[in-house]
Amino acid sequence: QRNDRESMLAVNKFAQQYFSSLLFDSSEGRNIGLAYFHERGFHDDIIRKFQLGYSLDQRDAFTVSALSKAYKKEYLIKTGLSIDRENGSLYDRFWGRVMFPVHSLSGNIVAFGGRVLKKDDKTAKYVNSPESEIYHKSNELYGIYFAKQTIVKFDRCFLVEGYTDVLAMHQAGIENVVASSGTSLTKGQIRLIHRFTNNVTVLYDGDAAGIKASIRGIDMLLEEGLNIKVVLLPQGEDPDSFAKSQDASQFISYIEKHQTDFIRFKTSLLLNEAGNDPIKRAALIGDIVRSIAIIPDHIIRSVYVKECSTLLETDEKLLYAEITKYQNGHT
Ligand code: ATP
Ligand code: MN
Ligand code: MN
Ligand code: MN
Repeated sequence: QRNDRESMLAVNKFAQQYFSSLLFDSSEGRNIGLAYFHERGFHDDIIRKFQLGYSLDQRDAFTVSALSKAYKKEYLIKTGLSIDRENGSLYDRFWGRVMFPVHSLSGNIVAFGGRVLKKDDKTAKYVNSPESEIYHKSNELYGIYFAKQTIVKFDRCFLVEGYTDVLAMHQAGIENVVASSGTSLTKGQIRLIHRFTNNVTVLYDGDAAGIKASIRGIDMLLEEGLNIKVVLLPQGEDPDSFAKSQDASQFISYIEKHQTDFIRFKTSLLLNEAGNDPIKRAALIGDIVRSIAIIPDHIIRSVYVKECSTLLETDEKLLYAEITKYQNGHT
């Protein structure tokens, strides 16, 4: 098993070097892949730091090259870089895409994401490596290897949705950032963050899906004992697009100005939705209470109870009674 893992990591390392050298040293890579990154405003230092790459627009260019370098078929398949046609011949999982290697905490390349250059309705925007012996998606966070030191330094981790959000934040000088890569957060990912800090700021896309995802993911963060802030981006923006619409210092000051405590954020969001409808307000109180009840630290809980009783114009005692009820039923 141990040799398997090492062979798979070696294949991925080769693939990263192969894709990166295509990006910078081939005319197709430069004219299409590098031009794509430049058009999106990414600079070469960031492109090199994250070891981005390009896969040629051919069905099996990578596989042929890896086999010619004596990498074994078995590991090309196990890493998911090549797909078995079942007649014995292999073809590439990634072709005609810009490539994002996914680094583990210790800096090994455990997977890749590949993005199409032009989005149409037929092709998936991103293709990702499959789960494997070296890649358990639910325990990895994109960017953690490049973020861990800065997370400790600032005792805070920014959490975004996508690969390009991580790149854009780095380029703006914010390096304590990781991405959940689209899927909803898992316990394993949360524990990974918690190894380095207790403080998380969620910066999800400013659309309905992003807001829903943040509310869903955040109860899990609270349960893990993390302190959560949320930054709501303008409608239709994600951290990448928003960072590119202004200079880095404006972007950073927007984040500082709009960081809101999560419970306060959720309460005002729900209050807005409920309006004056008493039934909806009652449901909302239940919803907020559930988020407060799962916070492990009772002192932090009491701070939230005080705050929410003001925001919700509800008696503290009543909120405590609801919390106790919820906790008793929630074992
Ligand atoms: P871009 O700016 O390049 O369009 P994005 O990160 O803004 O990318 P989103 O649509 O916001 O893209 O999705 C967030 C993340 O979800 C992506 O970075 C990627 O990790 C993942 N994702 C998106 N679409 C797919 C897909 N079709 N298949 C697998 N993963 C996807
Ligand atoms: Mn802790
Ligand atoms: Mn996005
Ligand atoms: Mn985007």
